[in-house]
Amino acid sequence: MNIHEYQGKEVLRNYGVAVPNGKVAYSVDEAVEAAQSLSTDVTVVKAQIHAGGRGKAGGVKVAKNLDEVRTYADEILGKTLVTHQTGPEGKEVKRLLIEEGCDIKSEYYVGVVVDRDTSRITMMASEEGGTEIEEVAEKTPEKIFKEVIDPVVGLMPYQARRLAFNINIPKELVRDAVKFMMGLYKAFEEKDCSIAEINPLVTTGDGKVMALDAKLNFDSNALYRQKDIIELRDLDEEDEKEIEASKHDLSYIALDGNIGCMVNGAGLAMATMDIIKHYSGDPANFLDVGGGATKEKVTEAFKIILSDKSVKGIYVNIFGGIMKCDIIAEGVVAATKEMGLELPLVVRLEGTNVELGKQILEDSGLNITAADSMADGAQKIVSLVKQ
Ligand code: ADP
Ligand code: MG
Repeated sequence: MNIHEYQGKEVLRNYGVAVPNGKVAYSVDEAVEAAQSLSTDVTVVKAQIHAGGRGKAGGVKVAKNLDEVRTYADEILGKTLVTHQTGPEGKEVKRLLIEEGCDIKSEYYVGVVVDRDTSRITMMASEEGGTEIEEVAEKTPEKIFKEVIDPVVGLMPYQARRLAFNINIPKELVRDAVKFMMGLYKAFEEKDCSIAEINPLVTTGDGKVMALDAKLNFDSNALYRQKDIIELRDLDEEDEKEIEASKHDLSYIALDGNIGCMVNGAGLAMATMDIIKHYSGDPANFLDVGGGATKEKVTEAFKIILSDKSVKGIYVNIFGGIMKCDIIAEGVVAATKEMGLELPLVVRLEGTNVELGKQILEDSGLNITAADSMADGAQKIVSLVKQ
């Protein structure tokens, strides 16, 4: 789960990580009021969306007085920001962070991630802050320093110190940088984060070390024990189809392609996506209806796929084990009757009650292309959506 920058900064503040003073605003008037109460010489107006790259897209503006705060807030609120992380459709800005302007001396990068190679939490830091870290990793990987963290003892102060020296934090600020990193790690650990990224971490003209940006992601499987974090969820920022799917306990992830997939079992769902790709198609989603899906659940799943405007064809690939093929067939028929179906539909059924399932589909009078194998089905749907 993702949260906004201003929320991330609140979380970090509780762990002793220094962040600028700031307030969230939902309207232009609130923005001006917030700026007034901060009463700083320079105020920064920042778009709050669940994506980075806002600065380059015009979502971060420095205001020198209240009039400018009003102008920028008016300009950014309601605007659809397109950044390298939002996708081409962009994201509408509904909240602003009104923040104290910082006198930046240098920008650095500090991130905490779970490194799958070592199965350890790892802290990374670089002198190349403020820019895209992916670019640094690609072009000048030697500028990224890493400390692998032992889960028993956690991040050790000497490791934080080594990072601070490696990225050339001025000597007199190393102590503050270490405190910053220790706090960041503690927040990551205690709050079950999957990513905690500070880009940029800055040193300021008046000798402070601060987080100017904060991106915290949380492990969804741990949210049951992070009640205060769940409160920060912003459904406006999430895919509607994914929210709907989670209500029905379906594992659904929206993707960019045009072939809707309905599959049971995560392994088969992944294999289905792979084989569609293999035949030069593009899946529109990952969807696992689960082992014990009911007719109602299948119907809901089918509706979610159909509500995706980019879907140009549907591939149902079911292995009936616990899940019976006739149940799937009934769900498909019920959903298409309710929603109508103009798109090509390829169905591959195998396993328990397969004959009954095929019969139900045949009797439905729907225009369904039957497939004999997973590969056959993938080839058929790929060629149908290309027509
Ligand atoms: P994004 O990563 O989405 O572009 P950031 O929060 O990193 O957004 O802001 C982009 C840039 O704007 C920063 O690298 C920094 O130079 C500047 N900036 C952000 N917040 C402040 C602030 N409070 N004071 C001064 N400059 C800021
Ligand atoms: Mg940033």
